[in-house]
Amino acid sequence: MSRFGKKLADMATLLEVSREFTYRCAATMDAGEIIIKEISMAKNFATDVSDKITYNAVQIFGGMVCMRGSLVERLFRDNRILSIGGGTREIMNEIICKQLDL
Ligand SMILES: Cc1cc2nc3c(=O)[nH]c(=O)nc-3n(C[C@H](O)[C@H](O)[C@H](O)COP(=O)(O)OP(=O)(O)OC[C@H]3O[C@@H](n4cnc5c(N)ncnc54)[C@H](O)[C@@H]3O)c2cc1C
Repeated sequence: MSRFGKKLADMATLLEVSREFTYRCAATMDAGEIIIKEISMAKNFATDVSDKITYNAVQIFGGMVCMRGSLVERLFRDNRILSIGGGTREIMNEIICKQLDL
């Protein structure tokens, strides 16, 4: 196992879970169900996972990614908008709370 093996295994696991949840939401919507709560949860979960994965990618590649033009630097910067655009994390949580009658 490489020195980053455990980190990469955790990243791959989170990515897989996020993908499965997203696909389940898509299939349920495709079947005509309204699943506002699950979609909000899926957005928050997926963007939380992408935050973790891009953060860890920077850690793995080290100082090299401080350089403009590096792919990981670009992915890290681009990722930041995902939990803001199309409904922020806080607003998604508001929606989830309402759907759960909290
Ligand atoms: C690059 C980019 C692309 C975008 N693309 C799209 C797009 O394609 N379609 C689209 O519809 N919108 C898009 N947006 C807009 C995006 O949806 C808004 O930026 C987002 O809804 C937040 O609104 P705001 O920027 O006005 O921040 P504000 O509403 O001022 O919020 C600032 C912060 O306060 C938090 N906040 C606000 N209200 C509450 C509350 N009641 N409780 C707790 N926290 C709260 C927010 O979560 C956020 O963290 C895009 C934005 C950017 C920067």
